[in-house]
Amino acid sequence: MNKNPYEVLGVARDASDADIKKAYHKLVMKYHPDKNPDDKTAEEKFKEVNNAFDILKDPQKRAAYDRFGDAAFAAGNGASAGTGGFGGNPFGGGFDFGGAGMGGAGMEDILREAMRGFGFGGFGGDAGGFGGGRTAARAGRDLLDEVAIDLRDAYFGKTHTVRFSSNVECEKCHGNGTDDGKPAPTCPKCGGTGTIHARQGFFAVETPCPECHGLGHKIDKKCSACDGTGAVHKQRTLEVKIPAGVTDGARLRLRGQGEAGQSGAPAGDFYLDIHVRPDPVFARHGDDLIMQSDIPFTTLALGGEIDVETIDKKQLSVRVPAGTQVGEKLRVRGHGMPRARGGFGDLYIDITMRVPTKLSEKQKKILTEFAETKSDKKGWF
Ligand SMILES: [Zn+2]
Ligand SMILES: [Zn+2]
Repeated sequence: MNKNPYEVLGVARDASDADIKKAYHKLVMKYHPDKNPDDKTAEEKFKEVNNAFDILKDPQKRAAYDRFGDAAFAAGNGASAGTGGFGGNPFGGGFDFGGAGMGGAGMEDILREAMRGFGFGGFGGDAGGFGGGRTAARAGRDLLDEVAIDLRDAYFGKTHTVRFSSNVECEKCHGNGTDDGKPAPTCPKCGGTGTIHARQGFFAVETPCPECHGLGHKIDKKCSACDGTGAVHKQRTLEVKIPAGVTDGARLRLRGQGEAGQSGAPAGDFYLDIHVRPDPVFARHGDDLIMQSDIPFTTLALGGEIDVETIDKKQLSVRVPAGTQVGEKLRVRGHGMPRARGGFGDLYIDITMRVPTKLSEKQKKILTEFAETKSDKKGWF
C-alpha cells in the first residue's frame, strides 16, 4: 500500500500546490537514481516521492485521497479518483499489462481514438498538469481502443496486442526535458506556480509567467532528443491481458500507459473497451450459460443420459429425469463463465425435441402399438 503522500512529501494537509511542487522537487533531486547509484533505499524513496506527487498534484486525485484515503487508489476499485463510469464493472480497476512476449499474435488494431475526457472524465481534465490548469505542464492524454473477442476467449481470457504510436516519456532525459536528465530547476520569477500577478489599471490579474511560459520551471539547456518537451513520438506495442470472465462492454484500464505528459507531467491512462461477440451455441446470462439441446422424446419420457460439450470442450454426461418436458432447463453446476470473484456460473441445458421424420417400418409398428395402448385420443398427460 502507498504511504501517506503528505507525509512522504513532508507537507501539511492544506499545503498549496506550489508548496507541494517545491517539496517534490527537493526530494526528487535528493533521491534521484543518478545521484544515488545502486542505492536501494534511495530508489524506494524516489518511487514513493513520485507516487505521492502523482496523487497530490492532481486536484481530483488529491480530493479522492482526502476523502477515501488509500482505498481510492486500490487496484480493482473502479471508482478511484472520481473517474466514474466504471460502476458495477468488476474489471474496471487498473489491470496490469502483461510483459509476456506474445507479439506477432496477428491482431493488429489501429488506435481509433485518442481523446481525453471521453465521457469518463480523465484525470485532471483538459487543464491537466499542476495547479488546476495554471501551468502549461500538461498531463498526457488518455488513449482509448476497443476489441471484439469471442465468448470462448472471454471464458479463458486472452492477451490482446495493441500497436499504435503515441508520445512516450523521453528516455534520454527521463521526461524532464533537460540536457542532464535531472528535473528542471524551479522558475525564479514565479516560484514554480507558473503564474505572476500583474497590474492592469486597478485590477490585479494572473497571467502565465513569461519567464517559464507557465511551466513553473525553466530548462536552461534542452534535451536534444525531445527538444525539451520530455516526450517523444514512438511506435508502441501493448500486451493487454483480458481477464477470464470479462463481460461485454467492460473497459480495462492500464494506468500510465497513455500518452506521456509534457515536461514531467504524468502520463495518461490507456483504456481498452471489450466487446464479446455472441456465441452460436452458448447464450450468456450474467455468469451463467444456456445451450439448447435436442433430446429424443424417448429419453425425455423414460429418462436417461445425454452427452454435452461444455464451452471449454469438456464432454459431460448429463442425467435426464423421466418425464422431462420440452422447455425445461437442466442445470449443470459450475460449467458457466468464470466469476470475477472466483468460481464459475452454471450451465443450463434448454430442452428441445425434434419429431422424427424418417421412421423405419419397425419403428412405425412399435409407435403404432404404443399409441394403441391409450384408449382415448386426448393425449398422454
Ligand atoms: Zn528528452
Ligand atoms: Zn515562471
